[in-house]
Amino acid sequence: MPEISEVVAELRSIVSPSAVLTDDDILDAYSHDTWPLSTKQAGLGIHETRPDVVVRIESFDDAAAVFALASTRSIPVTIRALASSVTGQPLPVQGGIILDVSAVPAQYSVNRTNMTVTATASFNGGELERLLEEERLTLGHSPQSLHRSTVGGWVSTLATGQFSSKYGGIEDLLVGCTVILATGETVELKANPRAAMGPDLRQVFIGAEGTLGLVTSVTLKVFRHDLPTELEAFSMPDVQSGLDVLREQSILGLSPFLLRFYDNFEARHVLGDEEFSTPLLFIGVRGPQEMIDAELAILRRLIAERGGESIGSAPVERWMANRFDFSSVENRLAENGGFAETIEVAHNWDGIVPLYEDLRRALSPLAEDVYSHWSHVYPQGTSLYVILKGHAEDDPAAIAAIQTMWSTAMDVCLEHGAELSHHHGGGLARSPYSRASLGSAHIVLQKLKAALDPAGILNPGKLGL
Ligand SMILES: Cc1cc2nc3c(=O)[nH]c(=O)nc-3n(C[C@H](O)[C@H](O)[C@H](O)COP(=O)(O)OP(=O)(O)OC[C@H]3O[C@@H](n4cnc5c(N)ncnc54)[C@H](O)[C@@H]3O)c2cc1C
Repeated sequence: MPEISEVVAELRSIVSPSAVLTDDDILDAYSHDTWPLSTKQAGLGIHETRPDVVVRIESFDDAAAVFALASTRSIPVTIRALASSVTGQPLPVQGGIILDVSAVPAQYSVNRTNMTVTATASFNGGELERLLEEERLTLGHSPQSLHRSTVGGWVSTLATGQFSSKYGGIEDLLVGCTVILATGETVELKANPRAAMGPDLRQVFIGAEGTLGLVTSVTLKVFRHDLPTELEAFSMPDVQSGLDVLREQSILGLSPFLLRFYDNFEARHVLGDEEFSTPLLFIGVRGPQEMIDAELAILRRLIAERGGESIGSAPVERWMANRFDFSSVENRLAENGGFAETIEVAHNWDGIVPLYEDLRRALSPLAEDVYSHWSHVYPQGTSLYVILKGHAEDDPAAIAAIQTMWSTAMDVCLEHGAELSHHHGGGLARSPYSRASLGSAHIVLQKLKAALDPAGILNPGKLGL
């Protein structure tokens, strides 16, 4: 890499000089995202993944010039939006430039006939949802980080939301997008309902974690928000019976917008009731009244056949009202020696219970609390989300504890042939396992990378690239 002062001078000649940031405290702040390990390191003043310069663009038009300079001078460029990543995705492992896109003015337009919204990639998700709800529409995409992430970030991380069992993940919701490649070309992936003209090229950029191009605009599906909704919670006799309900309803083709099944350890925490001793199932249905009556009747029957008992709607209503709250993790991380981590994986139905049991067995010695839930359901299998919390002697020991939890969880998943990430992505947390996870398919990613980013400038060191 050339002298950083030269790079800064060149950057200031191609974008607004005030967009080029080099103050030490700014570079320190940009060395971190929302990954618990990174949060702990920030508290200790450890800035291992520090950029040399931040370019806070105010127009996507500036990006191609930054890419051209970076390609010619072999400078890494790491795209960053709101840094809500919990796996270190926007951290610049090789320094260089951070391209912060969060200040690009955001615009949107709704097409009510086609039921789509087209939005600038820097749009804050929560703000876009608020604007749509004023028009009685919804994105249907509701990640817990809705208010602290961008629509471009969702596409780039293969995000999924709490209502995925009805609306799908971002791979189902993205209709089209515009991307600037590292080589400077702008590519439009048209917003049409379907196209059979070779592979679906939108998928190349979904989940690419900023390694294959810069997403500048997205067209997403929208749905009616003004339809009746009903919620209900059930105690379930054991983990197997709850998972059987999730599987069975999926096979029958139901689409409740909310399905969350907690093991008894997390159920106690969710209900705030230490005496609650069984797993807990939340369901929510939305649609025309005749449809939700029918879906609710079928779900209640499936649940009753497996020994479930209704405990009313109040627990789900409370959860709906607090569903963006992440404070139990944040508060624990703020304590000296306190640690907390969330690890989400996925597996087929025939492997999910053994995976759950082995993960619990392996992780329980490493944390005081090990909670698990299943909240994204498919006919073939489900996600498994594990929350770990504990205390170590001090913050360096807490960092070591987080690292051990990751390596333990990833090893168990690899042994089971499970997917290492359901939606938080690779980032730094999983980069060492990317090749093992993708197996023979990793070569496709390598070849795509070589073709689309020949100078290798975009987010190097991620996804095993
Ligand atoms: C409390 C909390 C809850 C969360 N809940 C969920 C959840 O329910 N579901 C879920 O899927 N995730 C969840 N996440 C993870 C995170 O919010 C998502 O990964 C989110 O999509 C990241 O968006 P962002 O705009 O903050 O992107 P960043 O974190 O800034 O970047 C993430 C990655 O995307 C790339 N990127 C960002 N913008 C662009 C762009 N325009 N073009 C190309 N690459 C880009 C970056 O280079 C980086 O690799 C949660 C995080 C937190 C902190």
